[in-house]
Amino acid sequence: MTLSPEVIRQQFPILSREVNGQRLVYLDSAASAQRPDVVIDAEADFYRQGYAAVHRGIHTLSAEATGQMEAVREQVASFIHAAEAEEVVFVRGTTEAINLVANSWGQDNIGPGDNIVISLMEHHANIVPWQLLCQRRGAELRVINLLPDGSLDMAHFHGLLDQRTRLLAVAQVSNVQGIANPVTEMAAAAHRVGALVLVDGAQAIMHTPVDVQALGCDFYAFSGHKMYAPTGIGILWASKALLDAMPPWQGGGSMIASVSLTESTTWAAAPWRFEAGTPHTAGIIGLGAAIRWLTDLGMAAIEQREHALMAYAVDALKAVPDLIVYGPPQRTGVIAFNLGQHHAYDVGSFLDNYGIAIRTGHHCAMPLMAFWGVPAMCRASLAVYNTEEEVDKLVAGLQRIHRLLA
Ligand code: PMP
Repeated sequence: MTLSPEVIRQQFPILSREVNGQRLVYLDSAASAQRPDVVIDAEADFYRQGYAAVHRGIHTLSAEATGQMEAVREQVASFIHAAEAEEVVFVRGTTEAINLVANSWGQDNIGPGDNIVISLMEHHANIVPWQLLCQRRGAELRVINLLPDGSLDMAHFHGLLDQRTRLLAVAQVSNVQGIANPVTEMAAAAHRVGALVLVDGAQAIMHTPVDVQALGCDFYAFSGHKMYAPTGIGILWASKALLDAMPPWQGGGSMIASVSLTESTTWAAAPWRFEAGTPHTAGIIGLGAAIRWLTDLGMAAIEQREHALMAYAVDALKAVPDLIVYGPPQRTGVIAFNLGQHHAYDVGSFLDNYGIAIRTGHHCAMPLMAFWGVPAMCRASLAVYNTEEEVDKLVAGLQRIHRLLA
């Protein structure tokens, strides 16, 4: 099926607003995507008609809300091709998913002399939890170098693995360079030395069909707000056997089987063991609506459409003088650049005057900025609602800034 961005755009109310007197050109979906009416309505309707606290409630509304929440768990499982719904843990987002693994699995499985392997292109969310864990447990954090083009140095990666490697944690798609890393091959290599594999899917989930079983990873993390769903909701996936073996990381209501002040408190089964407290139920309902919407469009069709738009953008940006583009040419979702020596903030502010929203800064990837020797970059990201016309506006805007700042 060929997707029509014009038809898709009509479903996103925010895309018809103006910013600084111009029609908004939203090229910041990698930071957070916008939401279609069906997601906004699902969340609002839940508050209007269906809201109640989930679990434990005997009354109709509570039972309905619990049923809806658990139905979304099933939807998520089938969206990422998990074997069963009980492998799906509701969390706040990718950051919380990774911290959950570090604090639960990591606390039990990482000891002095062990090592964890990450890459130099990771988002801080896939660096800092491992730094904290390694400091706490006396373990070593090993970092895969990059080749001069910004891609992973696979020879270096293979050399880092040894019998003390307990975990490989790597992004499926880089949030700055848009590189799709060879995670299946990397997972197989990590498994050969007995390590587990966490894949940070934050920048992949909106762009490409995901099959956690085919990827061959042990943990998969992603955020709802980067896939047209509400903020404050995300997913950690892990096999049921793995989750069952992991201790709780946050204590509270809903994660226990029984609580006693005189005998041991006992835990609920996974995944509920990892969901202490009242969940973001409306966000979960909205996530369900986003998954339905994505599934109706078809992830393969989305991938194809975005691939064509990215090819158009890479080509069109060649018309901007002094543009430095970072990373190898095959990109998923994002394109990072600087305009000559001009600071990314200046470029971003000018573009904002023209109603064009891009991201500027270190992109929560300071080690990658150091690798490229720059304090900041501009990043334009492309989603299924973006158009060639918007890319042309970005190009025209950058050409104008180049003339003005020359
Ligand atoms: N990993 C990657 C690759 C990301 O792009 C992001 C968000 N920018 C995160 C992790 C963190 O996601 P969140 O802030 O939704 O927890």
